[in-house]
Amino acid sequence: MNKSDSELIRGLLDESGYPLAENWESADVVLLNTCSVREHAERRVLGRLGVLAGWKRLSPNRRVGVLGCMAQRLGASLGELRPCVDFIVGPDGYRRLPELISGRMSAPAADTAFRPEELYGGIRPMRDSGFSAWVTISRGCVNFCSYCIVPYTRGPERCRPAADILSEIESLAGRGFREITLLGQNVNSWRDGEMDFADLLRRTAAVNGLLRVRFMTSHPKDLTERLLDAMAETPAVCPHLHLPVQSGSDRILERMNRKYDRRHYLEIVRRARERMPHLGLTTDVMVGFPGETESDFGMTLDLIETVRFDDAYTYAYSPRSGTAADGFEDAVPEDIRLRRLALLIERQRAVTLLTRKEWVGRTAEILVERPSPRDPGRWLGRTASGLPVAVRNAGAVPGQPVTCRIEGVAGMTLLGRPV
Ligand code: SAM
Ligand code: SF4
Repeated sequence: MNKSDSELIRGLLDESGYPLAENWESADVVLLNTCSVREHAERRVLGRLGVLAGWKRLSPNRRVGVLGCMAQRLGASLGELRPCVDFIVGPDGYRRLPELISGRMSAPAADTAFRPEELYGGIRPMRDSGFSAWVTISRGCVNFCSYCIVPYTRGPERCRPAADILSEIESLAGRGFREITLLGQNVNSWRDGEMDFADLLRRTAAVNGLLRVRFMTSHPKDLTERLLDAMAETPAVCPHLHLPVQSGSDRILERMNRKYDRRHYLEIVRRARERMPHLGLTTDVMVGFPGETESDFGMTLDLIETVRFDDAYTYAYSPRSGTAADGFEDAVPEDIRLRRLALLIERQRAVTLLTRKEWVGRTAEILVERPSPRDPGRWLGRTASGLPVAVRNAGAVPGQPVTCRIEGVAGMTLLGRPV
C-alpha cells in the first residue's frame, strides 16, 4: 500500500512541476513515506532521518518531509524528535504537498487532518515502467483488530468508485500493463452501490489486454462464496489468496478482534481448494500477542502444518500505543516473543519447501519478469498462484507468458524449462 501511495505522490508532484530526482543525494527535497505497523519500521525511519540531517546541513535549500502513517501518528512531535524535518503529512494530506514544498512556512509544517472523503481521484500515479501495476481500490480500515494502528493512522474505510477504478485499469491495459493487483486493507469489503468485490474482479478481468488480475489483502471474515466463484470461473483472476490468519488459537483470535475462528478459517481454505486445486495460499502470522500461552502458540504451529501455506509473513507482536491490545496487562516477554518467532519461521520454511517440491513435474504458465541475477541463463517469473520460477532460456520479454515444466527447486524458487 505504501509503495502504491508513493507512486501516487510521485504522480501528484510531477504534475505540479516537481520531477523525480535521479537519486536522493542530488534532490532538493527528500520525502520518506513511512509505516507504523511495527516499532521496527519506525525505528528505521528515525535512523534514516539522522542521515538526512547531515545531508541537509550541506545546503540551506534542502528540505525533508515525513509522509504516511508515522507522520499521522506522531504529528508535530516528530519535528521535536528530529529537527531536520520540514513537513509532516499524513495519508489524507498529499494534495497539499506542492503547496507545502513551495511555501516558506515556519518548520515544521504539519498536515495530519483526516479527510474521510479523500480518494485521490483524478491523480495519475507515476509507476515504474513494467507490465505489472498496483491499483488502490479502497483506503483506510474500520476493523480495529486490537493490535493494529492502521485504523488510527489511515482513518475509516472508503471505497473508490468502480467507474474510476475501471477507467484507470483500461488506461493501464492500453499502455501495455498486463497484470493488475487490486489493493486495499480489506478488499473483500469493497462496495460501490450494488456492486461487490466479486463483481469488480469479474469486470477487471474483462478489460481488454489484461492477462492476470491479483488482489490483496483478503480478510477471512468477509471472504464470500461469490468471491470464490469469481476466482474459479474467471481465467484471468489468479488462483492466489493472501489470507492473513494471525493465530491458530480461538482465544487469541477473539482477543485480537479478528471476528472469525480457526474452524471458519479452515473451512474457507477447504472450500477455496475444492474450487481451485492448485490455489496459492499465503498468510500473515503473529506470535507473542498479549496472553499467548505455549499452548496457544502450539495451535498456531499446528495450523501452519495443517493448512500448508505456500508462504507466510511472520511477525512478533509489537505494542502500538493507542491500540486496544496496548492496554492488555498480560504481555509476553520479548525474549519469548522472539523465540516463538524463530520457531515459527523455521517451521514455515520447512512447509514452504515441502509445498514447492509438490510442483516438480507439473506444467505451469509464468509471466516473465526479469533476468535472474544469479544465473544469466535464466529468467525469473511467477506462476498464476504466485510462486517464483527461474526458467531456462525463455528468450523472454518481460510480461510475456511462458509455459514451462517444473524440473526442480533451488532455495525457495522453482526451476522451469519452457515447453
Ligand atoms: N489489512 C491486512 C489484514 O488485515 O490482514 C493487513 C494489514 S497489516 C498492515 C499487515 C500485517 O501486519 C498484519 O496482518 C499483521 O500480521 C501485522 N501487524 C499488524 N499490527 C501489528 C503489530 N502491532 N505487531 C506485529 N505485527 C502486526
Ligand atoms: Fe489492521 Fe485489522 Fe484493518 Fe488489517 S483488518 S488493517 S490488521 S485493523
